[in-house]
Amino acid sequence: MENLKKQTILAQIGNKKCSQTGAVNMPLYFSTAYRHHDIGVSTGYDYIRTGNPTRDVLEEALALLEGGRYAFATSSGMSAIQLVFERFQTGDHIISVQDLYGGSFRYFRQLEERTKIQFSYWQGNHVADLKYLLKPNTKAIFLETPTNPLMMEIQINEVVEFAKKHHLLVIVDNTFYTPILQQPLDMGADIVVHSATKYLGGHNDLLAGVVVVKDSELGDFFQEALNRIGCVLAPFDSWLLIRGLKTLSLRMKQHQENAIAIADFLFGHPLVEEVRYPGRGGMISFFVKDEEIISPLLKSLKLFTFAESLGGVESLITYPTTQTHADIPPDLRRSYGLTDNLLRISVGVEDKSDLLFDLEQAFEAVGQNAKIH
Ligand SMILES: *Cc1c(COP(=O)(O)O)cnc(C)c1O
Repeated sequence: MENLKKQTILAQIGNKKCSQTGAVNMPLYFSTAYRHHDIGVSTGYDYIRTGNPTRDVLEEALALLEGGRYAFATSSGMSAIQLVFERFQTGDHIISVQDLYGGSFRYFRQLEERTKIQFSYWQGNHVADLKYLLKPNTKAIFLETPTNPLMMEIQINEVVEFAKKHHLLVIVDNTFYTPILQQPLDMGADIVVHSATKYLGGHNDLLAGVVVVKDSELGDFFQEALNRIGCVLAPFDSWLLIRGLKTLSLRMKQHQENAIAIADFLFGHPLVEEVRYPGRGGMISFFVKDEEIISPLLKSLKLFTFAESLGGVESLITYPTTQTHADIPPDLRRSYGLTDNLLRISVGVEDKSDLLFDLEQAFEAVGQNAKIH
């Protein structure tokens, strides 16, 4: 059947793949080696790094979801990004959005020192400013949208328009919105990467990454590079990711419904200075008026867990300054607005009234303390 809706594709991942047994759930193949019937005659499988039936089913679904033709499941989001950067070499120049995952920034800085791939950072608010960053050796633009953690939405199609004029690849880290809310390849981006550890996996129990492309030359390139490097996703983790993906669109609906309610609560709260919520998805950032309340607030929360990740069914609250973004030098961080009074919430799929109650009681507790001292 053609043109199935995303939720149908998700629910059906792995079904009808095993004609021998009729298994409804995709079998988990641990085998590292596959028997050849004769010289040059194989079932299509030889060795686990090159191909695995469970991983193949996952990759086929991921390609379909992102509107791509080739998907690669990797051992982590960082190894997915590393795989993408196999495409570049010494002397190349990359423009990256400034407000991005701290681990990506750390990796770029190290690439710059070790391989002399150059990076320029773009504030992300005016596409017109990209031309000032362009160099004769610029090869690509790397985006996270919404940006992380300042939650600024970037118009992918406008960046693509600029990039096409200058023959640049557009790479989008689609971890925050997932293909349920945003399909960058359909907007003309060339490469999508994910930390599947987050929403795609969705249960805070799995480390994985994804690269998706449409173009066959890029597809062949990443196929060869992945087999050469070997940062593939293990069979069991591929199976877990299939299992998590089946409920992705259901989860995203609940994440978003809860996030809208929490953003509403935070807007106008007397202890909150500013809320960053782009109106969709499950991620919210907010600045508190007084940095001093952050530690007591985190300690007062009973349901939200103070932890560094996102995209799972459990609600988490993160302090980017000391967690996800600790590796960005403080002066640089503050210069683009990532100040020490910022908190980031990954809204889970719990009942929203319980989440609201928890936030309310925690703010009340710190508010009262603030009055006493
Ligand atoms: C977590 C994260 C990464 C890194 O992924 P891992 O799976 O932790 O290696 C990359 N980009 C974004 C936006 C992330 O949130």
